[in-house]
Amino acid sequence: MINLVNVRKSFGELEVLKDINLQIHEKEIYGIIGQSGAGKSTLLRCINGLETYDSGTITVDGTAVDENDKKQLRQLRKDMGMIFQNFNLLSRLDVYDNVALPLRFWNENPNTEENKKKIEHLIELVGLKDKMHERPENLSGGQKQRVAIARALVNDPKILLCDEATSALDPRITHGILELLKQINEELGITVVVVTHQMEVVKQICQRVAFLKHGVVLAEGKPEELFVKPTEDVKKFLGEEG
Ligand code: ADP
Ligand code: MG
Repeated sequence: MINLVNVRKSFGELEVLKDINLQIHEKEIYGIIGQSGAGKSTLLRCINGLETYDSGTITVDGTAVDENDKKQLRQLRKDMGMIFQNFNLLSRLDVYDNVALPLRFWNENPNTEENKKKIEHLIELVGLKDKMHERPENLSGGQKQRVAIARALVNDPKILLCDEATSALDPRITHGILELLKQINEELGITVVVVTHQMEVVKQICQRVAFLKHGVVLAEGKPEELFVKPTEDVKKFLGEEG
C-alpha cells in the first residue's frame, strides 16, 4: 500500500531521512517508533505529500507521490486521513461541523442526505453520539482525539496516518483510542500507520514496526520479534523508555 525506496530528505545541512526503505502492506497496522528528532513526522509528511523529499521514490497504492503532479497529489491526500498529538480541531465549530470540515475542503456538499448520514455514523462510530453539538472546549482529550479520528475518516481514506496521536493522553485513555484504531482497521479495512515514541502503543496494536533513529531504519519486524531479540540500539531505546 505504501512503498518507500531509498528516500532521502535534508533540511539544509541536516539530513533527516537517510536512505529509507519501507513497505507497508494493505490493511496492516504499521508502527514507526523512535525518539524525538528521529525523523518520524517528516517521514509521515513525505508520505502524504505535505513535505517534499530529495531523492528516492514513494508510492501509495501504486501511485507515485510526486510534488510536480498537483492534481494527483490532491487525490492522494484525499486518500490519506491524518491525526495529530494536539488534535487540531477548530474551537469555534461543534463536533458535527469539525467532522464535516474536510468535505467542504474537498468541495463536497456536506448537506446532502448521504453526507449527513455519513457524518452522524462516524460520530457514532467513535462513541460521541451524545456530544454531536458540543464544542471542543467541552470535551476531554480522549474525546477530542475521537472527533479528529471521525474527521480523518470522512473522505473514506484508504490510509490513516497517526502522528503521536496518543502522546498527550494518559494510559487508560490511550488504551481506548488504540482499541478504536484497531476497530477502524478491522471494520473499515483501512491501513493504519502509527508514529510514536511510546513502546506500549506498538505492543498494543502494531502488526509490524520500524525502529527509526537519526533518520535510519535500524530494525524492522513484528513487535514480538523485535523485542525478544533486540539489537543494541533497540535495547538502548527500550532501556531509556522503561
Ligand atoms: P520526530 O517526529 O521523530 O520527532 P521530526 O521529523 O519532527 O522528528 O524532525 C527530525 C529533525 O528534522 C529534527 O532535528 C527537526 O528539528 C528537523 N526538522 C523538522 N522539520 C523541519 C523543518 N521544517 N525545517 C528544519 N528542520 C526541521
Ligand atoms: Mg514528530
